[in-house]
Amino acid sequence: MKYDVVVVGGRLGGSTSSLFASKGGLDVLMIEKRQEIGTPVQCAEATTNETFNILEIEPSPKYLCTDIKGVDFYAPSGKHFRVKGNNMYGFMEGYVLERKIFDKQLAIESAKAGTDIMVKTTVKELIRKDGNVCGVVAKHLGKTVEIKADIVIAADGLESNIARMAGLKTVNKTEDIASCAQYEMVGMDIDPNYLQIHHGAKIAPGGYLWIFPKGDGVANIGLGVINSKETAIYHLNKFIKKFDATPVELNIGGVPLAGPMEKTYSSGLMVVGDAAGQVDPMNGAGIQNTVKCGRIAGEVAVEAIENEDTSSKYLKKYEDQWRSAIGKTLETSLRYQKIFQNLKDDDFNVLAEFLEGKNVESISKLSILKFLKNYPHLITLLFNVFILKQ
Ligand SMILES: Cc1cc2nc3c(=O)[nH]c(=O)nc-3n(C[C@H](O)[C@H](O)[C@H](O)COP(=O)(O)OP(=O)(O)OC[C@H]3O[C@@H](n4cnc5c(N)ncnc54)[C@H](O)[C@@H]3O)c2cc1C
Repeated sequence: MKYDVVVVGGRLGGSTSSLFASKGGLDVLMIEKRQEIGTPVQCAEATTNETFNILEIEPSPKYLCTDIKGVDFYAPSGKHFRVKGNNMYGFMEGYVLERKIFDKQLAIESAKAGTDIMVKTTVKELIRKDGNVCGVVAKHLGKTVEIKADIVIAADGLESNIARMAGLKTVNKTEDIASCAQYEMVGMDIDPNYLQIHHGAKIAPGGYLWIFPKGDGVANIGLGVINSKETAIYHLNKFIKKFDATPVELNIGGVPLAGPMEKTYSSGLMVVGDAAGQVDPMNGAGIQNTVKCGRIAGEVAVEAIENEDTSSKYLKKYEDQWRSAIGKTLETSLRYQKIFQNLKDDDFNVLAEFLEGKNVESISKLSILKFLKNYPHLITLLFNVFILKQ
């Protein structure tokens, strides 16, 4: 078998890169190790309108659960404040999706554009010649198959082996991964248009808890912890006791929070999505970034094949383009993540008290300075989040 491009992994990164490579006229094969694309879900399923602009796809009611207008932030004390979407701080309006359906639909769009797909097929090795990646060896229903390709796109997620096989330095140390657990629960009496984020060392040590509405009393309630003595599911089970609601699904997964790999390409290879660490390290959001980088990888593959140049030097275009699109944001988020990780419960409490009921876009510098008189240790946070943005 020979293709222009083989894509390893059949979820967001894989379907987006294969979609844009196929749209550009290439022969593309996407390989997914699971028997069904999109399951099990490892996501709280919220994303922005921008995701659909990047995909050039009209969002479909088949997988849209609710429209999201903003976020309610809760301190450990229960005090909270609301940040509305599409504001100067970069919060965007968006949706909560049914990702089981969305991921599969994206694979269907890619197949319609011409991508061949193999499911229940695991890539075991890369084929290399003179140091260049030129295909994969995969296992399909007990049989070993060799597939040659001019370019391999590794979209194999957090558990990625492909980048490492190509000699790239991956970033996922255990202490850099938020370990997450989530229930989809029924019987939740919450605002269907606002995401909830809850902070607190007893709620989610080193991370945060989310309640993302899916409409009709259904919501994803999950949390991520870093370096916690107890597991994510222990903390989650403790938190959900207060609700008169019942789970219909449990998801477990990890989010890489160390920022992107140093180098996401080599000769004949590009790395996309969670495999490349392109998740936002501040909030763990990866959907929009993954489709952005997946699209760039697919389009660069088209140009590389047209120019008959799949060398490392040519594929550097991929890295240059995705860094110019999201590199700065990832760097800022990494800085915020470090600031937030050092906040104590009392800090969240006083911040929520200060911000409760305020429109965060019109907080005056004078009131921030007055607040800082009493809480000078919060200057780095407030300076970065409010003053620099105004
Ligand atoms: C608990 C949790 C909550 C999250 N919530 C949100 C959220 O609300 N909003 C948001 O924007 N982001 C969220 N994220 C992040 C987001 O889900 C990911 O960033 C995104 O799904 C990454 O997509 P991907 O295609 O890169 O990787 P994945 O979705 O991990 O897909 C990789 C695919 O590759 C396949 N694969 C792996 N190895 C092989 C192999 N050798 N051969 C063949 N196939 C292989 C896997 O089976 C898998 O299907 C969350 C993540 C977690 C864990």
